[in-house]
Amino acid sequence: MLDVDVAILGAGPAGATAALNLAPHWRVAVVDRHAVPKARIGESLPPAAKRLLSDMGLWAEFERQGHAPCHGNRATWNGITAEHDFLRDPDGHGWHLDRSRFEMLLRDEAQRRGAKFLTPAGVRGVASAPHGWEVAIAQERKGPFALRAKVLIDAGGRAAMLARKLGARRESRDKLVCAWVSGKDLVDTGDAMSHIEADEQGWWYSAALPSGRRVVAFHTDADLPAARHLQDPAWFAASGQRMKGLSDRLRESGFVADMQPATTAAHSATLTPAAGEGWFAVGDAAISFDPLSSQGLFNALYTGLAAAEATDRALQGDTSAGEGYRIEVGSIGAAYERHLHYCYAQEQRWRQSVFWARRA
Ligand SMILES: Cc1cc2nc3c(=O)[nH]c(=O)nc-3n(C[C@H](O)[C@H](O)[C@H](O)COP(=O)(O)OP(=O)(O)OC[C@H]3O[C@@H](n4cnc5c(N)ncnc54)[C@H](O)[C@@H]3O)c2cc1C
Repeated sequence: MLDVDVAILGAGPAGATAALNLAPHWRVAVVDRHAVPKARIGESLPPAAKRLLSDMGLWAEFERQGHAPCHGNRATWNGITAEHDFLRDPDGHGWHLDRSRFEMLLRDEAQRRGAKFLTPAGVRGVASAPHGWEVAIAQERKGPFALRAKVLIDAGGRAAMLARKLGARRESRDKLVCAWVSGKDLVDTGDAMSHIEADEQGWWYSAALPSGRRVVAFHTDADLPAARHLQDPAWFAASGQRMKGLSDRLRESGFVADMQPATTAAHSATLTPAAGEGWFAVGDAAISFDPLSSQGLFNALYTGLAAAEATDRALQGDTSAGEGYRIEVGSIGAAYERHLHYCYAQEQRWRQSVFWARRA
């Protein structure tokens, strides 16, 4: 039996952020099935993240990590190519992250501040107990054991496994999926923009990453014809070449993919409620964003910090901490839906396309 104040499921950006903010004040345990972060897509960090990283005492180390600056977005949408640069942004530029390195920064800092990491490990079950919860853990090296905690935080990403076990309902808003490849740019073109290009059955994304690497991704709905080919490298390459802006970019930079296309869920979803008696959900577990918004990581940092503050208040006896957090997550979700709808509605060329009709 391991006795802690806070048990966090998930050591992704949201879970590690909650842990590093709570660990100086409370006994914290973090459970994750991966001992080190898995390579995955999701690297554009908006300029406003600098404020959160500074507030949490992470800025100096973040700067040392050498992530690539991102100076704005270039979108080919509704037949027009337009740039939105960060020149007048009060926070300066954003970043294209080395995603694994960034996640390790958050994990290492949480550990340095005293959080106990249980990895690789999973949650087998959860039950209420006097003064909190009892969580059944299966850890590869140690075998099964019980974790007793006063507060639980679900930071387990889109599955929101813990919150659903506690009775919360997760609602998906669409069926968006993503296929992506990464590889090397053989020519350094100094490209520091995120590129987006609308297609009849979805949209494309590309960004140059640190160390001369690049990611290319296509997004469509899981039930549309294009989704049947997402893992076919020949289809992926040929479809990308049809896109004028994307193919010019990849040709100029001499991009060579060094992996087969991987697929992942990318739909919007909400959790109701996002917090309950003795528990909170953070990051994608609380609210999952369409990658078009590039807000997922910021939301993970923001809700990780907000839930840490609410947990701190709850542990000190404030019974309104959960309600305040639920209201905050609700207002983030409402603002997100308005912006997403506005962005998709700007593309009007393919009114017959099921993908665009669903989003009109
Ligand atoms: C295609 C795509 C592109 C994206 N691009 C961007 C982008 O450019 N910019 C941006 O800001 N965001 C982007 N995002 C979103 C961003 O990646 C997520 O919002 C972010 O990862 C959320 O962090 P999290 O910590 O909430 O969840 P996750 O990163 O999913 O972390 C969850 C953690 O929980 C662990 N876990 C889950 N279940 C269990 C279990 N049962 N037992 C043990 N461990 C468990 C996992 O191993 C993982 O470490 C993108 C997302 C997608 C799908």
